[in-house]
Amino acid sequence: MEYLELDMNLTDEQIALKKAVHKFAKEVIRPAAIQLDALADPGDVLKKESIYWDVMGQMKKLGYHTVFIPEHFGGMGLSPLELHIFWEEIAWGSAGFAVSLGVDTFPSFFASLIGEDALIKNIVEPFVNDTGCNFIGCWAITEPDHGSDMLVAGTPYFHDPKITGNVRARREGDGWVINGQKSAWVSNGTHATHALLFLNIDQSMGMAGGGIAIIPLDLPGISRGKPLNKLGQRELPQGEIIFDNVRIPGWCMVAEPDTYEAMLDMTLATANACMGAFFTGVARAAFEEALTYSRERVQGGKLLCEHQLVQKKLFEMFMKVETCRAISRKAMVYNLSNTPPRTEYSIASKVYCTQAAFEVAHEAVQLFGGYGVSKEYHIEKLFRDTRSALIEDGSNDVLGLAAAEAILRNYGA
Ligand SMILES: Cc1cc2nc3c(=O)[nH]c(=O)nc-3n(C[C@H](O)[C@H](O)[C@H](O)COP(=O)(O)OP(=O)(O)OC[C@H]3O[C@@H](n4cnc5c(N)ncnc54)[C@H](O)[C@@H]3O)c2cc1C
Repeated sequence: MEYLELDMNLTDEQIALKKAVHKFAKEVIRPAAIQLDALADPGDVLKKESIYWDVMGQMKKLGYHTVFIPEHFGGMGLSPLELHIFWEEIAWGSAGFAVSLGVDTFPSFFASLIGEDALIKNIVEPFVNDTGCNFIGCWAITEPDHGSDMLVAGTPYFHDPKITGNVRARREGDGWVINGQKSAWVSNGTHATHALLFLNIDQSMGMAGGGIAIIPLDLPGISRGKPLNKLGQRELPQGEIIFDNVRIPGWCMVAEPDTYEAMLDMTLATANACMGAFFTGVARAAFEEALTYSRERVQGGKLLCEHQLVQKKLFEMFMKVETCRAISRKAMVYNLSNTPPRTEYSIASKVYCTQAAFEVAHEAVQLFGGYGVSKEYHIEKLFRDTRSALIEDGSNDVLGLAAAEAILRNYGA
């Protein structure tokens, strides 16, 4: 089932990219995600023989982990529009695999943006050349005591010295020493080999006194928690990371308090833009499930899709999916092409697309009747996956407050 591409300027290569990634999402990613979602113990997702490794390995062999890395560093170097096309299709297959692959890229993507020799040699090159899941990234920001207040720069409490992160770095010689704990929500935290780690350096500045380090996770003093058991995106392994007097070399610290807020804002703009693309794909997946089912199920002597009330619901779902794509493509193209980004547009994309995906999945479950809540049909998983997305990458309420501040600051000023 294919949607009508409204962008008539897509090149043949971009159309071919969309088709190839969709085929992979349909034949490889989605069946594996369904299989992993059904495992009762989330620890089993990461067992040696788990299909998780097979899917991630296939993506590495295809170079999908390098979509953000410029060609001159050996990556695929997709344009912002191509990135949107790519992520929509991957997440159409599975939101959990999209997030796992998305955070996998984060340490190396940042290292490639900064471009210093030590980062290219120690991070970007081994990541790009990895074809066997030997280099897996994660983005570690959330802490047991800090979620929303850690993620969004520019809030009234961001400069309050009484509110600081628990993971802290102090200078020692040419390097740094890290102590503290990141929460069980860190995607890939269970098995990542490297982290893009957000931490606190200067407590007198509150959350604004932060820093960002790109670090290997096999250093002495690092330990992990158990894989998190949760409602949605169960194919995505998540777990806490604990730092006990962990020594890192100086080149690993890529941002200190003077640049921290700008870097945090850029990270959120990128991550939320990706979430908009992901959940365009998930909304579309849920809509397509509903459309297919409505063409099969007969009630009152007619197919569901022949009842006018059902037709109206299908139209409303379709409209939401198309609006998701319209806003999330524009936000991604703008914010991945401009520095500094206009983060309020990425937030609008994330909040709109995740909410719309949740509503589409909810309506689709209703259309399936009793089968909608049975494990037999994929729509039940999509419903759980979209529910998690309203909190993931920033709760939609708090993101909305942050965007409102940016709108008041920027719009017409
Ligand atoms: C599937 C998934 C994947 C994730 N992946 C990662 C990852 O890769 N790395 C990582 O570090 N983290 C990750 N997270 C964590 C995620 O970023 C946090 O869950 C999110 O930022 C919210 O933080 P919290 O859970 O601590 O909720 P809290 O911040 O404690 O918020 C709880 C509630 O209070 C409300 N609230 C908070 N502050 C305010 C306020 N000022 N005004 C009004 N209401 C407020 C919120 O809206 C929310 O409803 C993930 C989470 C999920 C669900």
